[in-house]
Amino acid sequence: MEKLESKGRGFELQDRAGEIFAVDFLAGAEGISSRVRRMFCEPWSRMDYFYTLSLLWPKPTSLPLTFRFFSGLEGYAWIFPGKESFSLGIGSRGKQFQAGQFFSLFEKALDSDPELAEIKPRLRKQAVSWLIPALRFSTLRQQKVAADNWALIGDASGAAHAVSGGGIPYALKTASLLAEALKAGRPEQYQALWWRLCKDELAGAALWGPLFYRPFIQGMLSGYLLKSGSAKKLVVRLLSGEHPPRREIFSGLAKMLLGF
Ligand SMILES: Cc1cc2nc3c(=O)[nH]c(=O)nc-3n(C[C@H](O)[C@H](O)[C@H](O)COP(=O)(O)OP(=O)(O)OC[C@H]3O[C@@H](n4cnc5c(N)ncnc54)[C@H](O)[C@@H]3O)c2cc1C
Repeated sequence: MEKLESKGRGFELQDRAGEIFAVDFLAGAEGISSRVRRMFCEPWSRMDYFYTLSLLWPKPTSLPLTFRFFSGLEGYAWIFPGKESFSLGIGSRGKQFQAGQFFSLFEKALDSDPELAEIKPRLRKQAVSWLIPALRFSTLRQQKVAADNWALIGDASGAAHAVSGGGIPYALKTASLLAEALKAGRPEQYQALWWRLCKDELAGAALWGPLFYRPFIQGMLSGYLLKSGSAKKLVVRLLSGEHPPRREIFSGLAKMLLGF
């Protein structure tokens, strides 16, 4: 879609080839930079984005699923092993760094293991930068995602985990909720369905996410406290988008603070 305009009670869209389509309902599913969202909603602040550099290395790795924290980085570096390739990257909330500084930190993350040494010289050429929605609670709560003739789903709606950045399940779930509302002939109900999903599965991370990325907590995570095996497991579960029961989170945090 190259152009989008309101026309009467519907919309007119123009594709790259110049073909024009008239529609009476618009579902914005075009990811984080959604034109539909920008047409109808308040812009997000830079604190509602996770800035990432990442690359897919076309070889298997013996390294495990890894999250690394650095004092001063409001985010983390990761290694996600796959069968024939692995993804590695670094992300920070709220565009903390200039590109050069961010790459230097990414290179530092690669120093953690000799297996990653061959990637380092190729990093600046091959890594790509992506934005991921990481909405703070206030933005998530106020997000408008539907009216009588338009709706937003997936990243376009901001439905992603504010700490892990995981958004694939929420792209599918929000699409299914919108389909449910449209099938019932009640598109306006989608706003409430969307919020119920976000309240149950994303609001917690939107609330504790900004705290998680505070320099004090990141300092703790990057230092001796992650020597605690159970705390380490808890952080990996949280960053993998799991929803451990609250009592497990509090007991994990207590263990982290006590250092066991
Ligand atoms: C490096 C990285 C790693 C990630 N890892 C994970 C992970 O491990 N697990 C997880 O759950 N999530 C992960 N995510 C997040 C996940 O990719 C997104 O949350 C998910 O893809 C959102 O799906 P979506 O369909 O809403 O948007 P997208 O996947 O962004 O799809 C939007 C589509 O719309 C198209 N589009 C954009 N503009 C237009 C236009 N004007 N006209 C027509 N089409 C348009 C785009 O080309 C794209 O195909 C990761 C993201 C990144 C950047």
